[in-house]
Amino acid sequence: MFKKILIANRGEIALRIIRACREMGIGSVAVHSTADTDAMHVRMADEAVCIGPPPSPQSYLSIANVISACEISGAEAIHPGYGFLSENARFSQALHDHGITFIGPSADHINLMGDKIAAKDTMIKMGVPCVPGSDGGVTDLEEARRVSGEMGYPVIVKAAAGGGGRGMKLAKSAAEIDVAFQSARTEAKAAFGDDAVYIEKYLGNPRHIEVQVFGDGKGGAVHLGERDCSLQRRHQKVLEEAPSPVIDAETRARIGKTCADAVAGMGYSGAGTIEFLFEDGEFYFIEMNTRLQVEHPVTEEIFGVDLVREQIRVAAGLPMSFTQEDLTINGHAIECRINAERLPDFTPSPGAVAHYHAPGGLGVRMDSALYHGYKIPPYYDSLIGKLIVHAPTRKEALARLDRALSELIIDGIDTTAPLFHALLEDRAVQTGEYNIHWLEKWLDKA
Ligand code: ADP
Repeated sequence: MFKKILIANRGEIALRIIRACREMGIGSVAVHSTADTDAMHVRMADEAVCIGPPPSPQSYLSIANVISACEISGAEAIHPGYGFLSENARFSQALHDHGITFIGPSADHINLMGDKIAAKDTMIKMGVPCVPGSDGGVTDLEEARRVSGEMGYPVIVKAAAGGGGRGMKLAKSAAEIDVAFQSARTEAKAAFGDDAVYIEKYLGNPRHIEVQVFGDGKGGAVHLGERDCSLQRRHQKVLEEAPSPVIDAETRARIGKTCADAVAGMGYSGAGTIEFLFEDGEFYFIEMNTRLQVEHPVTEEIFGVDLVREQIRVAAGLPMSFTQEDLTINGHAIECRINAERLPDFTPSPGAVAHYHAPGGLGVRMDSALYHGYKIPPYYDSLIGKLIVHAPTRKEALARLDRALSELIIDGIDTTAPLFHALLEDRAVQTGEYNIHWLEKWLDKA
């Protein structure tokens, strides 16, 4: 087992990984920008190395700086968390070349799934059902018009290198395809330096259902059921739960096996998430994330496993600590993402946290790097905490979430916490009857 791991991240996910290291008796090294000198992950890790100025490209995204920190501290492995360098194949390869273990899949698998066109192609070959769409990339307007016309509107133009909902444009009819196609390409080029796009049928009433998979890198793999992330704003997840209120045991076993077989066939190593849209009882693959997801705690809660510990074990060459038969679901878990944002417009609200009190009690988990007096810097993602509850049933989990939210105090900045209180009062949330478009409409009315 590793003696020391460097965490190439910040915020709550850095804490999450440091905690796993500590329980495993592994030393932890934090890296930080000059804007994060007072951050909780720096305080909590055994060691810390400053890797540059506030802008991410010069610190958290600088491969050279992160590798230097690893060499200075003598860490043997790097956990990338999510975001930043977590899905950067060049980073994974550079670590390999330096004899440092990347806690995640191989550079080849990151590359393959990072190109959403290649990913879809691979999944089709593996027998995974996909959203109907263009056969590969679409490079010119003529082709975009033809493909969309044949498929039938509405369609969605998506960036091959996409992520975070960027480079995605809807065309409701033929009159909108020219603008959608051009603007998706421009946005993709600006965001990812790559203007490759593809076109999919736009689904009007789907849920977002994703399957957690885990591979041992030697041809073995398991699935850990699904997460339902249908409550979204601007294609970004707001609240996630497991299991999904609309998936029964038989369906779970079937889609789970399809996913586990696909990653086993690839020889995939570590944690991964296969994302689907689910409409009228059918699954349609949209993408695979080759890293730990923000919403992984809901899966941990219902299966009683530690996914970060498992990632570290597999990266160290140990076998997985569970088989498919060991994995049984216990109860229901819900996570809400608390952002430093001002409602109703969701404008960023960084600044000093005057007072912070985390909720507690049975079945409540608050993953956050906040503390009393902490100053949230304006340079990074606005996620400041994840409130996760676990209870025997969905109904009890909702009641527990309501109770936990009423205990949460974050003063000095605006947060999205009040949104969840309001959402819990809505019948659709109580019954679980919503699709990926529901929250946007609800927000428009509110
Ligand atoms: P990203 O990598 O940018 O997050 P995804 O492909 O995972 O992009 O899609 C993100 C979200 O966008 C989905 O959860 C869904 O809400 C919406 N979306 C993506 N593809 C479609 C589609 N074909 N029809 C309708 N909505 C879609």
